[in-house]
Amino acid sequence: MRDRIEEQGGRIDVFDTIVRSGVPLLFRPLDGLLGVFINEPMPGVLVTTKRSLSIQRFTGAHELGHFTLGHDPSLDDESILRRMPYRAAPDDKQQEFEADAFATEFMLPPWLFATHFVRQGWTAAAMADPITTYQLSLRVGASYEATCRSLMRHGVEAIDRRTLDNLLRVQPKQIKQTLLGDYEPPDWWRDVWLLTEKDEGTIIEGSRSDLFVLKLTEHSGSGYVWTFDELDDAGFAVVRDEREGPVGNSVGGHTTRSITACSESAQEGWLTLAERRPWIPDGMPLTEFCVHYDLNGPEVEGLSQAERRLLLEAA
Ligand SMILES: [Zn+2]
Repeated sequence: MRDRIEEQGGRIDVFDTIVRSGVPLLFRPLDGLLGVFINEPMPGVLVTTKRSLSIQRFTGAHELGHFTLGHDPSLDDESILRRMPYRAAPDDKQQEFEADAFATEFMLPPWLFATHFVRQGWTAAAMADPITTYQLSLRVGASYEATCRSLMRHGVEAIDRRTLDNLLRVQPKQIKQTLLGDYEPPDWWRDVWLLTEKDEGTIIEGSRSDLFVLKLTEHSGSGYVWTFDELDDAGFAVVRDEREGPVGNSVGGHTTRSITACSESAQEGWLTLAERRPWIPDGMPLTEFCVHYDLNGPEVEGLSQAERRLLLEAA
């Protein structure tokens, strides 16, 4: 898994790990609970369908912790999200603190952050910017808050207590508003990915209603423009199209093309965009931008997608 992530980006596959550990995993619309771990007569995990993908993933990792650490059965509610692992645990909550610590270490190991830092050219100091930290959280598949806390726990330089407090004072909705400008989405639950040339060739793993702000350098001075017909063909709707720049005041310079697109359904595939001279539609593109997207989240009732994939492979 580490090799794959270092090559293509992405996140730790929590549900695939549970299934490959031989633990039955089912998604159900649970009332008042995020997840359940049982160990008699055999181990098993339930995760709710009623929450976002990042919460489902953390819950799965927490239940995997119960299994791996040989814990007693557990009914887990919202408190698994609010607990601060690594604090001294009260005696009756010992195994819950352990499962939370396991979940964080498993889903957000230091090498995963390092991989994304290198690819994106992010420095530790860049993490003081909530927009950057939010973009990191999407790529590692964790909530904004869990990502902020993990950065500090891993001792990332520049994330001290004060920086963490500043980051946590910002609500994800404010970050999304900044990214979307004057475009107002139907709701503020959906995530907003900022995609740039740095994401070329990577996998984007999100949810069916996610929004994408693509910012690509356009060599408009030389007559090249990005075309976005491929977005329509792939089932994305373009909701905003702007140009920023030119950078500097040189004639023939570059602009930044900024496109906002939304996904309308669960889908998976490759998207390739090209920068061409519009009067030579079949000419060689100057630049291409290609990403692999998997927007099947959140998990729906039944088996995980990881398990369905495994069953298909075995068939
Ligand atoms: Zn638990």
